[in-house]
Amino acid sequence: MEVFSIGGYSEVGKNMTAVKIKDDVFLFDCGLYIPAVIELQEEKIQDYGERQLRGKQALPDDLILDKLGLRNKVRAIFLSHGHLDHIGAVPFIAYRYNCPIFGSPFTISVLKRTMEDEKKRIPNKIITIESDSSHTINGKSGDYEVELIHMTHSIPHTTMIALHTKEGIVVYGNDFKIDNTPVLESPPNYNALKRISKQGIKVAILDSLYCSSETKTPSENLARNMVKEIFSGMHGSKNAIFVSTFSSHIARLKSIVEFGKKLDREIFFIGRSLNRYTQASNDINLFSFKNQVRIVTYKNQVASALKKISSQRDKFLVICTGHQGEPGSILERLSRKKLPFEFRRGDNLVFSSKTIPVPINIKNKGEMDKRFKKYGVRIFDEVHVSGHGGREDIRELIETLNPEHVIPSHGSYQQLLPMRELGKELGYKMDKNFHLMQDGEKISI
Ligand SMILES: [Zn+2]
Repeated sequence: MEVFSIGGYSEVGKNMTAVKIKDDVFLFDCGLYIPAVIELQEEKIQDYGERQLRGKQALPDDLILDKLGLRNKVRAIFLSHGHLDHIGAVPFIAYRYNCPIFGSPFTISVLKRTMEDEKKRIPNKIITIESDSSHTINGKSGDYEVELIHMTHSIPHTTMIALHTKEGIVVYGNDFKIDNTPVLESPPNYNALKRISKQGIKVAILDSLYCSSETKTPSENLARNMVKEIFSGMHGSKNAIFVSTFSSHIARLKSIVEFGKKLDREIFFIGRSLNRYTQASNDINLFSFKNQVRIVTYKNQVASALKKISSQRDKFLVICTGHQGEPGSILERLSRKKLPFEFRRGDNLVFSSKTIPVPINIKNKGEMDKRFKKYGVRIFDEVHVSGHGGREDIRELIETLNPEHVIPSHGSYQQLLPMRELGKELGYKMDKNFHLMQDGEKISI
């Protein structure tokens, strides 16, 4: 078996891993490098083609597979969950592979909505696999069974992919945290994890982004309580309340809407990406915001909604895009007074998010915060818990799976380095059965 670390091993983003077994190759994830996309302004990504995105290093460098003569041996692309750093490159490079794409219902729903929004089409067959079920793939060197195991993260229908091969099971757990009291879905499917552990796992590729954090990431339930607490202090307020969060975080949006309703305010969702993910959730009857919120997307709708909110600022709660200060997002335009709503002293702005620690986001968010502070806005930052596990989540998962080999992923070499310590504690030998890889490398196991 050979494992190729194509993307997501030298940065946070453009995740892609290839696994080769004899004459068959499988791709795990096909993501974008979001900071490069933010520079291009995400709102206009449909205007860009593969070549420009490659030039900006926004796509995983999968041309390595062409050089090795492996492109025509790819039998399937598996998608672990619906975040753009895992599926966002599909509309641009999946056509290069004559194979189907597999994912859980929400993941596929998000992919389809994204392609619709960006007016992209791909020739690949797209196949939905329910979480906690499997599908057989006929390869040149035999049959394979791919199993999607329910896992907790920060987007619905996140799965741990288990590819059953003659050489043992390949587990791809990118991304995850271990959440035993999630808000929207059930805890991880421990039974399935224990079962595959007994069957024998050859290699586990695991999200290790926060392995430097010497703790377990708190449950989404804590974030729900943080939202509750902050809103409870806003009862009877005469000022505006705006909230921004990850549009794909359906569980968080659910909490915001539920506690928001107790404020007796009408709720607006403003922004294109909020529309995309809530529609994707609606499409598969996962969770519906219909009859609870008004979703506005188009320019004229946004302007007239904001005018209305401006005239009765204590009657509305607004959830909008732009928590990273992305140029062109609703919040960023509001901060520059480019939309018909002006923030005043005492207005409330809740970030149910964390600034992604890359220079472009830190700069954008910092500059946006300064503008809001100038207007006297009260800022509630980091009303949030992460979707990525800390060191103790990762330890628990490795102990449950007991894989022969471990490959940390989802970060730069520096970010993944603390995994060496954890690997040693768990009895692994560096470069023997514990492999710290960077983009563009290959190991044989
Ligand atoms: Zn993710």
